Amino acid sequence: MDLGIAGKWALVCGASRGLGFGCAQALVREGVNVLIVARREGALEEAAVQLRADPLRPADASVLSVCADITTTAGREAVFAQRIDFDIVVTNAGGPPPGDFRAWDRDAWISAVDANMLTPIELIKATVDGMMARGFGRIVNITSSAVKAPIDILGLSNGARSGLTGFVAGASRSALAGKGVTINNLLPGAFDTDRLAAIFQGASARTGKSVETLSEARRTAIPAQRFGNPAEFGAICAFLCSQHAGYMTGQNVLADGGAYPGTF
Ligand code: NAD
Repeated sequence: MDLGIAGKWALVCGASRGLGFGCAQALVREGVNVLIVARREGALEEAAVQLRADPLRPADASVLSVCADITTTAGREAVFAQRIDFDIVVTNAGGPPPGDFRAWDRDAWISAVDANMLTPIELIKATVDGMMARGFGRIVNITSSAVKAPIDILGLSNGARSGLTGFVAGASRSALAGKGVTINNLLPGAFDTDRLAAIFQGASARTGKSVETLSEARRTAIPAQRFGNPAEFGAICAFLCSQHAGYMTGQNVLADGGAYPGTF
């Protein structure tokens, strides 16, 4: 299927590895020009080199990179100094740490809300007016299955991302919708990335169980009997950014191998 977005410009945040990289790769393969952002120069450059060398990248799809912390005002200014007129924005930053809610002070909450709620809102604010004027825009926020089925030790994520979800539910149904601009959230379940490995390592340190035991228990509890991979996550993201998804907005799209047990 031709997604109809070749030649568009996409900003993909948190894209040096994991789910953000998967999204950037899927978009580049559709002929989309991407600007990727991450905090570590070396890893970011490696990712950019890998995207440019991708045999499935059409020759005219550019790959730019900006090394920045997207959760800071200075980081977003550095990105928008490169360009502002993005047609596609994929918001993403590291998830907050797990823990017991009794241990989280105001600063812990402020940084979770900053990274996982206010940063996507700032990115949306900065780009939607241009998208509306041009009559096309796609925003995909990488959130979490924890928005639908909260995980006790991920309270910071449950809370901050639910705030973003409520905001998107309203904003996506505003005047944006009539101007060809959609905002959707893409909710990962368990995907095989460094983030998932870090969660198992943290749980291992807390419980004394081995990483292998914890990982196997999680994997076998998923109806698909496996973890997801960044490439299949990226393909769903690219579809949400496509011309074909123009009538989908304000949705929370779950990709979790069937782990969420509800009907809706
Ligand atoms: P990851 O740790 O593998 O990759 C995160 C990427 O974001 C890296 O490129 C990192 O450099 C970049 N990054 C982190 N903070 C940044 C910042 N402040 N500014 C710019 N770049 C930043 O993580 P992942 O597994 O790809 O997860 C992506 C998001 O999805 C996270 O918010 C995570 O909590 C969420 N999530 C992941 C899973 C999973 O199973 N992997 C499940 C649910 C939710």
